[in-house]
Amino acid sequence: MKDVRRMSKDGNAYIAERAKQVSSEPFRLALNLPKDVIRLTGGEPDFETPSFVREAAKEAIDKGFTHYSPSTGYDELRKAVAEKLHRENHIVYDHGTEVVITPGSSSGVFLSLLALVNPGDEVLVPDPIWFHYVTLIRLCGGSPVGIPVTLGQNASIDSEEARRRITGRTRVLILNSPTNPTGMVLSRENILALGEVAEEHNLTVVSDEIYEKIIYEGNVHTSPASLPALRHRTITSNGFSKAYAMTGWRVGYLAGPSEIIEKVTALSGYTLVCPSSVSQKAAYAAMTDPRMDDCIKGMVDRFGRRRKLVLEALNDLRGARAHPPQGTFYAWVDISETRISSEQFACKLLESERVGVLPGSLFGPRGEGHIRISFATGEDQLKEGLEKLRRFVLRTTPR
Ligand code: PMP
Repeated sequence: MKDVRRMSKDGNAYIAERAKQVSSEPFRLALNLPKDVIRLTGGEPDFETPSFVREAAKEAIDKGFTHYSPSTGYDELRKAVAEKLHRENHIVYDHGTEVVITPGSSSGVFLSLLALVNPGDEVLVPDPIWFHYVTLIRLCGGSPVGIPVTLGQNASIDSEEARRRITGRTRVLILNSPTNPTGMVLSRENILALGEVAEEHNLTVVSDEIYEKIIYEGNVHTSPASLPALRHRTITSNGFSKAYAMTGWRVGYLAGPSEIIEKVTALSGYTLVCPSSVSQKAAYAAMTDPRMDDCIKGMVDRFGRRRKLVLEALNDLRGARAHPPQGTFYAWVDISETRISSEQFACKLLESERVGVLPGSLFGPRGEGHIRISFATGEDQLKEGLEKLRRFVLRTTPR
């Protein structure tokens, strides 16, 4: 007999178990907010893509770059990526076998996990962390295992805690520095210590470095693969969305051991086919045009000023204590003194003050008691949002 549920129009459609665990709630919370709300939720720069990058895309259209590209991405962009990784991150990659261009870096992380994680495998992820990883691991049939992050002066991921969580099924360690949502930048020593755990237990490290250029006050970004012990077991993931203000163009890249890159490319070929041809031409201009350095510096300076606005607004505010971010455009704020859950906090702030922030609980069990404020928002909006947030916290925090 036919399974009528498959044809149902009344909300009883037959949905696979895999998809049932995927929630669109975070996107609703971050993006689908009413027009009158001051959004301190989004993970994207409010700046326009620099004009010379847009011009390169227009030229590409006119020159007919409107066809499929190879599933690896264009060779010229892979070469530019390999040169950048050598120049800035001190890692030597062969662009022809060890670099692949992906439609955005999120898909690169997913393809890496598809290539590395068997059903039943465990993947170590810092907690709190960007919530996408947990869903992507589950989609591969794996189990995320949280490693607690310590914040404050010596923000770090405790390698002993990571070691304690290793089982016979642990395969992958995900790192993301600078970190969404905490703004933490992992020190070289911390990466080395975590690298020892990876070495001892033969783990592959997936290192998401999308915020590497958005960094403050002398903090230094270290790429795990630049450490000789980690080079052969690390996939470096990055892209153009954040520092280049190119979220909508959807270009990212992965670099790593050729056997993994080959499989990632095959998986990409079947599912995503290839990155956008036009966007790759724009990304090539962004990566090779000398004007880009000044653009990035200008944007990071502005983020730095906004970071200061956030820290000043919350300084000495009982009920909301910000951890000064070392990188990213997020402030991670401890709201535990208000004695309401992070979800209630975000809901009530939205209802009463029309300001949107993300509840910390979205980012893992250890995110409870916190909210994430994005300062990738124009200064006037940000100031107004912070003033309203202050008012809310003063009203809400018990004496
Ligand atoms: N990695 C992290 C840690 C992020 O926070 C984000 C965006 N929120 C991404 C990757 C997504 O980047 P892309 O636009 O290149 O997919």
